Amino acid sequence: MDEGFTEFEVIDLLRSRSGSSDRLEVGIGDDAAVTVPGGSTATSVDAIVDGVHFHRDWSPPEAIAHRAVATALSDLAAMAAAPGEVYVTLGLPPHTDAGFLTSLADGFIAATEVFGAVLAGGDTVGSPVLFAAVTVVGHASGPGGFVLRSGASVDEVVAVTGELGGATAGLWLLANGSPGIEGLDGPTSKALIGRQLRPRPQLDSGLALARHGATAMVDVSDGLVQDLGHVAAASGVSLEIDARLVPVQPGVAAVEAGSGSSPGDMSLAGGEDYELALTIPEPALEAARQELETLGVRLTAIGRVAAGSGVRVVDEGGTRDSPAGFDHLA
Ligand code: ADP
Ligand code: MG
Repeated sequence: MDEGFTEFEVIDLLRSRSGSSDRLEVGIGDDAAVTVPGGSTATSVDAIVDGVHFHRDWSPPEAIAHRAVATALSDLAAMAAAPGEVYVTLGLPPHTDAGFLTSLADGFIAATEVFGAVLAGGDTVGSPVLFAAVTVVGHASGPGGFVLRSGASVDEVVAVTGELGGATAGLWLLANGSPGIEGLDGPTSKALIGRQLRPRPQLDSGLALARHGATAMVDVSDGLVQDLGHVAAASGVSLEIDARLVPVQPGVAAVEAGSGSSPGDMSLAGGEDYELALTIPEPALEAARQELETLGVRLTAIGRVAAGSGVRVVDEGGTRDSPAGFDHLA
């Protein structure tokens, strides 16, 4: 770490800006955090590493922090957990610029706050490469309050929040720029890049979907078909998806075409959109859709739960070929 900016100064920065919550009795500054959870907790850990999960050249420090917190919280959204505490382990290379560190710390505080959580602790270590490991704790009144991957039943509807493909298209634009992509205007391109750099965990949607009876849920981090595969396996069912129904973010088709990908590669197999994919009994779908609409979130039915195993994707040509990333499928 930079000698002009010690570990203690980083921690002080975080401590001075970290908030409070009803559950958090002791936060940053003691040997451990103390909470009074009041029910059941769900805990998830996610790490991001420079050059692997983000690129310092593409992401300002605040966006790196945002992404680290948002992707960790997305797992809580997929459990229908209320966001609680965030713990951040920071690995800082020697001579990291003080301004960079200040922005990074600000980013952790801002992202934690904006998603309704509180920074409760962490660790700060020297490391050859910049990384952040984020532990998040979410809450429910009891263990039955969480929505697992294992609850899907035959004949239920498969649905997804928001629009897919944007994060993968945004990543492609960051790496390659937009020359050669036809029909992509500035704002659309910016929205795709924003989708990659500043994901938004669907925490409110997750809680609303649980209230409306979602039976199984997963966040779309690795690609819709792959993530639904986890639901199919955990629930012991088959999920049949109609590719024509999958909501795709504007501009994704243009990037797919211009980048030599097949249609659907980015929306069906691309990851990092952090939308929620779920199963829900058909009679509950419309009320759930209406409540998500009040949150400004689209809920789209894309398929059905059937007996069997794996994920089957159909489109106008019948069962779709499996593009790259689908290879684990039946
Ligand atoms: P210890 O040496 O006892 O592990 P530290 O000096 O690592 O203590 O941490 C002191 C306090 O600062 C603790 O409350 C810890 O949770 C907090 N802390 C350290 N690093 C971070 C970080 N990156 N983010 C949030 N809190 C942190
Ligand atoms: Mg420590």
